[in-house]
Amino acid sequence: MTKSIAIIGAGASGLYAASLLTEKGYDVTVFEARDRIGGRVLSHDGFDLGPTWYWPETETSITQLIERLGLPTFTQYTTGDLMLERQFGVIERHTLPPGHTIPSMRLVGGMASLTTALAATLPAGTIQLESTVTSIKQTEDEVTIELETGWSQAFTHVIMAIPPRLVSRISFQPELSEATKAKLVKTPTWMAGQAKVLAVYDRPFWRDSGQSGQGMSWAGVLQEIHDASQPGGLAALFGFFRLSAAERSVLDRDELNRRVIDQLVRLFGEEARHPRDVLYVDWSSDCDTASPRDAQPLTDFPVYQPIALDSAWEGRLSLAGTETDSLFGGHIEGALRAAERVVNQL
Ligand SMILES: Cc1cc2nc3c(=O)[nH]c(=O)nc-3n(C[C@H](O)[C@H](O)[C@H](O)COP(=O)(O)OP(=O)(O)OC[C@H]3O[C@@H](n4cnc5c(N)ncnc54)[C@H](O)[C@@H]3O)c2cc1C
Repeated sequence: MTKSIAIIGAGASGLYAASLLTEKGYDVTVFEARDRIGGRVLSHDGFDLGPTWYWPETETSITQLIERLGLPTFTQYTTGDLMLERQFGVIERHTLPPGHTIPSMRLVGGMASLTTALAATLPAGTIQLESTVTSIKQTEDEVTIELETGWSQAFTHVIMAIPPRLVSRISFQPELSEATKAKLVKTPTWMAGQAKVLAVYDRPFWRDSGQSGQGMSWAGVLQEIHDASQPGGLAALFGFFRLSAAERSVLDRDELNRRVIDQLVRLFGEEARHPRDVLYVDWSSDCDTASPRDAQPLTDFPVYQPIALDSAWEGRLSLAGTETDSLFGGHIEGALRAAERVVNQL
């Protein structure tokens, strides 16, 4: 009999697990809470509001997958000087030595090209959107999952490809032990406390004066800024925030935008004053990514590793997702490696 597998979460990890299992002949259904695939991978008109880069020198799973799927790529633009703001309004310009960064790559069309291409490897009807899983019950030789709507179905095996902290939104029968629940809750969701802003321009004017579009600041609202332009398309600068989720939450969008643009003007000049568009996503207020604990800024890079579930669930339920990979946890590479791990264990 063909084994039926339910995958919870249509992020990079869940989609890759689904693709690998479909290739092996399993009968797979992916349940996704949102009305879109991708999870933290989110591109708007080709601009990335979630992940942007991968690093081919070290990340082999994503590099090989992108090659296999035939997705066009390009190198992150880093030519030119970095602008530094150690004190508010005091701008330093630094010429960095060649080879100062590990080269990162981007996908034409944004990182969503990867999740879209993965979804295209699945038979029609595999992915069910707007399907939040709220309960997982074990019967003698099956596992039944139930959605928020009350709909339920039995499967041979269930893979949760969701951030460990979001497992607490699901009820289990038999219940997960307190020790397992504690391990799940202790594992921060990578970048879930962050927000990303993109200022879109007609052309990358900063390049004219030998600036790379990179900025670092210990004083403005943004901590780290990069060139987010598309090859042959619109130009953009994107930034990660220095402000915590709590600090951002007391500012309205207009005020936040004003501070972002003022900072871009301080670093890159008056031409930054009038972007044609400003895109913004605050991941900390997205309940399908972040739990309230993720609003706490991280002080160190978390230690990620596979999280063993209780013996009562062995062989029935596994946990994938980037936060379960010990080498590249946090990155898409980790999400893909976690998918490979759980698929190989089946
Ligand atoms: C702003 C930002 C920048 C980043 N930059 C980079 C980068 O440049 N390079 C890089 O490699 N990584 C980066 N990352 C990290 C990268 O996005 C993640 O490692 C990767 O996308 C995680 O994939 P995942 O499938 O493990 O989890 P997710 O993408 O979080 O997918 C989990 C999915 O499960 C769904 N879900 C949750 N609960 C349920 C439920 N109960 N029922 C049904 N569905 C559910 C969610 O809606 C979601 O779609 C960044 C992340 C952010 C937020």
